[in-house]
Amino acid sequence: MNLILLGAPGAGKGTQAEAISAKLGIPQISTGNMLREAVKNGTELGLRAKAAMDSGDLVSDEIVIGILKDRIAEPDAANGFILDGFPRTVAQAEALDSMGVRIDTVLEVYVPDERICARMSGRRVCEGCGASYHIEYKPTTEPGICDKCGCKTVQRADDSPETVLSRLEVYKEKTAPLKDYYAQTGKLVTVTGQEEVADTTKLVFEALGIAD
Ligand code: ADP
Ligand code: ZN
Repeated sequence: MNLILLGAPGAGKGTQAEAISAKLGIPQISTGNMLREAVKNGTELGLRAKAAMDSGDLVSDEIVIGILKDRIAEPDAANGFILDGFPRTVAQAEALDSMGVRIDTVLEVYVPDERICARMSGRRVCEGCGASYHIEYKPTTEPGICDKCGCKTVQRADDSPETVLSRLEVYKEKTAPLKDYYAQTGKLVTVTGQEEVADTTKLVFEALGIAD
């Protein structure tokens, strides 16, 4: 199954992608996590992406399409994958089409704007493995320590309130048009993000037809 998760920053795409990945045994491919890793490692690519990411802008299509293309060619993606944070522009969606990638479902996780800011302030990510948490909705077992790998969880620099607002603007302008793009192909399914992660996951599994 090849899936795309669509949704505003902080809507919970990453968390739901992790749940689907665990359920189906296919990788979660997060361009945001890959870019953060590149920035952390100080690679050439990371250096090129950093300024855009810090200010809440999108990294150039050229860079992101390049890393995505390499990633989906890896063996673990042969039986399916979950794209989390890609495509984010119509140009990226078109690039995916022209790579010949077949998409089964585009799942939109919808959360109203007024809930987004509150969600973002409690968001934490693992410095080691990129797993996402929320101090209220999805806390780590031990405060500040990742359940999966034991590394420290931190607040992302681009989760500051000002940057969150500009990321929401960018989402509306550049990414939301993808809803129409995929609705036209009949592949778009929308689920509303609930307060409890598990409640959203239940709706997501039902929408994908993979509930027990
Ligand atoms: P969010 O949780 O806000 O959806 P991500 O972790 O997916 O954020 O992405 C963080 C940042 O990485 C984005 O604000 C953007 O700068 C960059 N980024 C991630 N994916 C893409 C993409 N497909 N195209 C352009 N920029 C991207
Ligand atoms: Zn971790």
